[in-house]
Amino acid sequence: MEMRIGGRDISSADEGWIPVINPATGIEIDRVPEGTLYEVDEAVQAAATAYGKWAGRTVRDRGMVLFRAAARVRERSHDLAALLTAEQGKPARDAVDEVRGFANILEFYAGIAGAMHGDYIGLGSSGDCMVRREPIGVCGAIVPWNMPVILMGWKIGPALLAGNTIVFKPAAATPLTSLSVTALMEDAGLPPGVLNVITGRGDVVGEALVKHRGIGKISFTGDLETGDRVRELAGSRLAEIHLELGGSDPMIVWEDADIGKAVDGAVRGRFYNAGQTCTAVKRLFVHEKIADRFMARLRERAETLVVGDGSDPSVEMGPLSGRAQLEGIRSLVEEVKEKDQGTIITGGSPLSGPGFDGGFFYPPTLVTDPDPQSPLMTREVFGPVLPISVIRDLDEGISRANETRYGLGASVWTRDLTVIHEVFSRVDAGVVWVNRHLTLPPEIPFGGVKESGLGRENGLQAFQTYTRTKALFLNW
Ligand code: NAD
Repeated sequence: MEMRIGGRDISSADEGWIPVINPATGIEIDRVPEGTLYEVDEAVQAAATAYGKWAGRTVRDRGMVLFRAAARVRERSHDLAALLTAEQGKPARDAVDEVRGFANILEFYAGIAGAMHGDYIGLGSSGDCMVRREPIGVCGAIVPWNMPVILMGWKIGPALLAGNTIVFKPAAATPLTSLSVTALMEDAGLPPGVLNVITGRGDVVGEALVKHRGIGKISFTGDLETGDRVRELAGSRLAEIHLELGGSDPMIVWEDADIGKAVDGAVRGRFYNAGQTCTAVKRLFVHEKIADRFMARLRERAETLVVGDGSDPSVEMGPLSGRAQLEGIRSLVEEVKEKDQGTIITGGSPLSGPGFDGGFFYPPTLVTDPDPQSPLMTREVFGPVLPISVIRDLDEGISRANETRYGLGASVWTRDLTVIHEVFSRVDAGVVWVNRHLTLPPEIPFGGVKESGLGRENGLQAFQTYTRTKALFLNW
C-alpha cells in the first residue's frame, strides 16, 4: 500500500512503524509509518505550497472537485467499508453508512458552494463596505479512532470548500481508510498537497501539528484532557481552535413515549459502534409509570443483540476498538460490582470463547439504579454499558440530565409539546433530538456546550469558521 506524507511516497522510508490491529481478531492487518517532527514540517510545507492555487480557484470550482471526490468514494464504498471494519471493528452495514455519510458531507458542501459569498454594507454618505470571506490558510485536523471517516468529512468538507489546505492526522489505530479516501480524492482531481495525511502518535505528530506556526487553525476531536492540552498549545500562538470533545448524553423517556420506538432508540443510541460514539446515549432516565414495561423490552433486546466480528453481515455490534478500551470498560464494571454502584441486570463481563478469540468483545450491559456519584454516571463511558435511572417528574429528569460536566447531545421521547419545550430549553446540549438519538446530517450545526467543546461542525456555520473576513471600506 502506498503511504503518503506531505504528498510524497514514503513506503520505503526507514522509519518506525505502527501496527494496525483488527479488533475482532487481535491480528495485525497492516502498518503505517510512525511520523516524525520532520514529516509534520514536510506536510505543512506541502500544504502551504498547494495553498495559493487552491485558494485562487472559485468556490464553485472547488465544489465540483468535492462532488467528483464524493462520487469516487461512493463507487468504492464497499471496499472502503471493509477496510473500516477491519481496522475499527464496526459492523459492515454501519461501516458502509459511515463511508456514504462521508460522501454525503462532501456533496452537501459542494451543493452550497454557489451560495457562499461575503457581504456588502452600505454606509450612506460615509461610503460603502465590502466584506470578503477568505480562507485561513493551512489547517490542521486531528481525529480519534471511533468514527474515523465521518469525522474526517466533517473537518475537510467545509475547510476545502472554503479554500484551505489541510494536514490531517487520523488516530494511530485507524489510519487506513483515511489514507485510501485521500488517494481516491486525489484520483478525482484534488491537487496533490491540498490534503495531506500524517500518521503517527498523538503526543508526537499530533502535538507537533498543534504547535506548528504554519497552521492557522486546528480542529480537534477527541478526549477532554487532550483537548485542554490542544487549547493550551494552540491558544498560546493565537491559532484558531475548534474542539469537539466528549459527551455523556442523557435520554429521557417520558410517560407517553412509544415504548417500542424508545427501546429501539436506546439500543441503537447506546450499542451502535459498541457504545464508542461521542453522542451515544450514556445515561437513560425513564418515567416511573412505564419503567417496568420499558426495562423488560430493553433487556430482551440487549440480550438478543448479535455480537461478533463486524465482517459477518448478521452482526449488529462489533468489538471494542482496542485492548485498552476493553480493559477500561471491564474495570469500570468491576468497580460497579465491588462498590455496589448499581444492579447489573445483563452483561457485565468480557465475551470469550468461539467467535470471540483474540478480539476485544464486551456484551451489551444494563445497569439499573446507578449511583449518581459513580464513574458510570460522572465520566464519559465509551463502551456498551447503559445505566438506567427511574424519574418521577420532569424537573428531576432535567436536573439529573444536567448533572455532568458535558453538554453534547440529549434526547427526549414523547409527543408532549410542553415536555419537548422544557427539555429543549433547559437541558445543556448542542443538539436535542425528539424521538431519536445520534443522527447528525451535515445540514445541522453540531457541537457541545460546557466542557464538551468549542465551536461547531457541519452546516453553514462550519464553512464560516474556516474563513476569515476582510473588509474593504470605500470612501467615495
Ligand atoms: P484522544 O484525545 O486520545 O485522541 C484523539 C486524537 O488526538 C488522536 O488522533 C490522537 O493521536 C491525538 N492526540 C493524542 N494526544 C495528542 C496531543 N497531545 N496533541 C495532539 N493530538 C493528540 O481521544 P480518544 O480517546 O482516542 O477518542 C475518544 C474521545 O473522542 C471521546 O472522548 C469521544 O467522546 C471524543 N469524540 C468526540 C466527538 C465529537 O464530535 N464531540 C466525536 C467523536 C469522538
